[in-house]
Amino acid sequence: MAESKDYYSILGVSKDATADDLKKAYRKLAKQYHPDAQHTEEDKKNAEAKFKEINEAYSVLSDENKRAQYDRFGSNFEQAGFGGGYGSYGGAYDFSGFGGMDIDLEDILGSVFGGGFSSSKKTQGPTRGADIRTNVSLKFEEAAFGIKKEINVTRNEKCDVCNGSGAKPGSKIITCDKCGGRGKIQMTQNTIMGSFSTVKTCDKCGGSGKVIEIPCERCSGKGIVRKSRKIEINVPAGIDDGQAISLRGEGDAGLKGGPNGDLYIIMKVLPHKYFKRNGFDISANVRVPFAKMALGGDIKIPTLEGEMEFNIPEGTTTGTKFRVKEQGIPILNGKGRGNLEFVVDVDVPKKLTDRQRELLTEFAKTFGEEVNSKKKNIFGR
Ligand SMILES: [Zn+2]
Ligand SMILES: [Zn+2]
Repeated sequence: MAESKDYYSILGVSKDATADDLKKAYRKLAKQYHPDAQHTEEDKKNAEAKFKEINEAYSVLSDENKRAQYDRFGSNFEQAGFGGGYGSYGGAYDFSGFGGMDIDLEDILGSVFGGGFSSSKKTQGPTRGADIRTNVSLKFEEAAFGIKKEINVTRNEKCDVCNGSGAKPGSKIITCDKCGGRGKIQMTQNTIMGSFSTVKTCDKCGGSGKVIEIPCERCSGKGIVRKSRKIEINVPAGIDDGQAISLRGEGDAGLKGGPNGDLYIIMKVLPHKYFKRNGFDISANVRVPFAKMALGGDIKIPTLEGEMEFNIPEGTTTGTKFRVKEQGIPILNGKGRGNLEFVVDVDVPKKLTDRQRELLTEFAKTFGEEVNSKKKNIFGR
């Protein structure tokens, strides 16, 4: 006699569990160990054994009569003389259709697997096409001022031979021969714990009960074909890295007359040689010769369009920040521009001529400084 199994501990419930407790526990475990939910072959193997065990436990405990027998005799109750026609061990252990219970696995697990269980397609009605996401790379200035670009998109398009119907032109729509037009098929699965039947959506007609007599040759009856398209996009001035533009209806084609999905183009803006962007403001560091910092005057600063002159005051120190209005990024979908900010950095000459060194030494002496003119970096911190 085989060792009696503890069906209660298999399902992780107490001996006084209610029908509801059992169903909940079973759902949870069946979801966890369902072969379709495993990722590796190894997991699948392990889970399969566990899944059978869970099914066995539930099939007994969810049946009041069997549960009573089990409570008295343990899992070998069939051999203890339980005469319900369950046969005996040795192969013919047959809970036909779970011993007459109405367990519809699809019903129990369908919600758990979001309808994916039993690999049936849900409907064959109009279905919206999928959205497509793609990236486009932009130069800093292209994002700032906007540009027209051509991008390549590979997408599902309505088959132009059958106009999306999937049927060969002139062919008819007929009743599905697999399900006889019912849209559902009864499947009987044989396992070591018996055979049980499930009702599945017909995979041939997808539940509609109708199929195409002769499928379109161009699209193999799918109604859609893959196509590569060049699409012109208008990148608006002021767009920033990570932002997207969307084109309605430019995604995958819908099925059976469903609407098309949308196309989302995500901007990848390349860094600029000088500028950093912060919203619509841009910033840069500008090196200024120390004499100019001391004396003040016009310096050249970079702008998005080239360069411009800017007057710094006498005695400007390193780290001073200046702002030039309206020289930043054009406001996206708006008017005006952000600002340009720049921070000055003293440009200390690395090499001096004898004459320059002489003059600087003279200059330093006017402040009463002791200067060793051989030392570099006299303006070092
Ligand atoms: Zn076609
Ligand atoms: Zn069918």
